[in-house]
Amino acid sequence: MESHPRHHRILIIGGGNGGLSIAGRLRRGGVTDIAVVEPRDDHVFAPFQSHIAGGLVRASQAVRRQADVTPRGVAWIRDRVVEVDPAAQTVVLGSGEAVEYEHLVVAVGLETRYDSVPGLAEAMQRPDGVSSYTFELAAKASPALRDLRTGTVIFVQQPEPASAAGVAQKPMYLACDWWRRIGRLSDIRVVFVTPEPSAFPVPAISDELQRKLDEYGVETRFGADLREVRPERNEIVVERGAETEVIAYDLLHAAPPQSPPDWIAASGLADDDDPHGFVAVDPSTLRSQSFANVWALGDAASVDTLRSGGAIRTQAKILTRNLLAVLAGDQPAARYDGYTVCPITVSRHTVVFAEFDRDLRLAPTVPGWKTLYRERRFSFVLDRYVLPWVYWHLILQGRA
Ligand SMILES: Cc1cc2nc3c(=O)[nH]c(=O)nc-3n(C[C@H](O)[C@H](O)[C@H](O)COP(=O)(O)OP(=O)(O)OC[C@H]3O[C@@H](n4cnc5c(N)ncnc54)[C@H](O)[C@@H]3O)c2cc1C
Repeated sequence: MESHPRHHRILIIGGGNGGLSIAGRLRRGGVTDIAVVEPRDDHVFAPFQSHIAGGLVRASQAVRRQADVTPRGVAWIRDRVVEVDPAAQTVVLGSGEAVEYEHLVVAVGLETRYDSVPGLAEAMQRPDGVSSYTFELAAKASPALRDLRTGTVIFVQQPEPASAAGVAQKPMYLACDWWRRIGRLSDIRVVFVTPEPSAFPVPAISDELQRKLDEYGVETRFGADLREVRPERNEIVVERGAETEVIAYDLLHAAPPQSPPDWIAASGLADDDDPHGFVAVDPSTLRSQSFANVWALGDAASVDTLRSGGAIRTQAKILTRNLLAVLAGDQPAARYDGYTVCPITVSRHTVVFAEFDRDLRLAPTVPGWKTLYRERRFSFVLDRYVLPWVYWHLILQGRA
């Protein structure tokens, strides 16, 4: 007897922030036969990794079982996609099984590439190599930063493309504030290395962060690329234009380079001229320009704005509206303006809440509060308590 491949009306690749938001929203919109492909057993709330590294929350507070956060009525395929054949409307799973779809939503996030800088991956295996960008390394960062009393600590921000690049600075400010509170900040040399020309691409927010860098006495290396780590000598090599500098460290906190999974480009879902291989979508409608039944959002999509969970909240609304319209035989009319947000904890009780659009114009969401981006206790409460609750209880269920 001939066996038919499994088939779903809506197939979502990735059960992270974007994938589950869409699954929940479509389900609430009355769509049936939705499946999510996700290989992990545990779902991690990535923004808490910064708080874990900075010693504000325990690692266990960032994790829920995938089975518990997958919206009710949505099938979970516990596997990973290794290939998509958009012409045949089929994906191939790691198990070798093929799954057919009517509409495909890609939400697979970015992969960390520690191995793209010589010595970086090796440095992260040592006690003095940590990073908020990987769950286990964030947990290792917490006691390492807390217990440091003297020496040099280097914080490296990764180049774009990245997942909320600016949040690489969060553990640095949290650690500085901690050392200041216990009277050790003046004994610790803090160096911040970033490929960006300033602390943040939006000038008003950059000024706010620079004020904190000055306040903590952080040495900055702007426009500096991390070229090599020499773990056996505890040194990093950075390049600024024609200048090369070697900086010794006692502790290295490094956000790694990132990129979308390779199979996206290999499956023909990326633009040929995109060196990074993002899923090519119209950044306004989030629909593929080559395949009318392929959609994407989040870190792996060509959304043309700073990638963040806050951006996904808006993207999920737009994508759902457009996909529901297409399912009903209409044109996708909703438009994404590139709204994004990057909350940066600048002390253990204040945050700089950076909200802006794809033209880097400030875009505060609290009506009438144009200066929400300034350092505030209010936005700390939002970032530390309100948004995590909203994430677990509303966003992942497609309710917000
Ligand atoms: C340390 C850190 C701190 C951050 N802080 C903030 C913050 O404060 N505020 C904010 O707004 N944003 C923040 N972000 C960004 C935010 O977390 C991301 O933008 C968001 O999680 C991206 O969602 P996504 O759905 O695109 O990807 P993810 O949430 O990463 O989900 C992708 C999912 O796809 C799965 N997957 C991968 N490959 C495959 C495959 N081949 N087959 C099937 N499934 C696959 C993965 O297992 C994963 O579960 C932070 C990110 C990091 C890393």
